[in-house]
Amino acid sequence: MQTLVADHPLVAHKLTALRDVRTETPVFRSLTDELVTLLAYEATRDIKVEQVTVRTPVAEAVGVRLARPKPLVIPVLRAGIGMLDGMSRLLPKADVGFVGLARDEETLVASTYATRLPADLSGRDTFVLDPMLATGGTLVTVFEMLAERGAASMTAICLLAAPEGIARVQKAFGDDFPIPVKIVAGGLDERLNEKGYIVPGLGDAGDRLYGEI
Ligand code: URA
Repeated sequence: MQTLVADHPLVAHKLTALRDVRTETPVFRSLTDELVTLLAYEATRDIKVEQVTVRTPVAEAVGVRLARPKPLVIPVLRAGIGMLDGMSRLLPKADVGFVGLARDEETLVASTYATRLPADLSGRDTFVLDPMLATGGTLVTVFEMLAERGAASMTAICLLAAPEGIARVQKAFGDDFPIPVKIVAGGLDERLNEKGYIVPGLGDAGDRLYGEI
């Protein structure tokens, strides 16, 4: 498994504003959107392409286009929905699947309450959107669903990650896992607290994107 933590001043600048407790929902949403587009650039570095030839006004040019089958983007409900527009800006033709997982606040165990994924993901690059990689339980569950369906690669895009979460995903999908597995994160924080929140983090990403309901 490959882990990539963005090392870019624009990402760091936007992430700092996102963390700020004074940042209100509308700004939080647009910062999330912008950050995802920046992270998606890196996350799609190995996406499958095929060679094509086009005619410019001057001559023929050899280039590439995204290969078939189309990639699949999977926002994890509910906070991952806040990342979908930013991802779709770079991959407008990708299909979109959905997975809903809720975390029990006592046990921190995630349970699935909604799944809308193609039964067959053979040959498809998949991109999971979840802003906070905390315990890693959610991401392991979603990656397992994608691997069972035959995904060709699995990449998670997260705004922030905790070392505990990365370690858990690494344990489940180690270097001998048969398909490429990647985590792209905007930042790597110190640790989780006793409630499973990332420290210093940014609080509950779903609440900050959509309000406390
Ligand atoms: N989920 C969040 O929204 N925030 C955290 O810090 C951890 C999990």
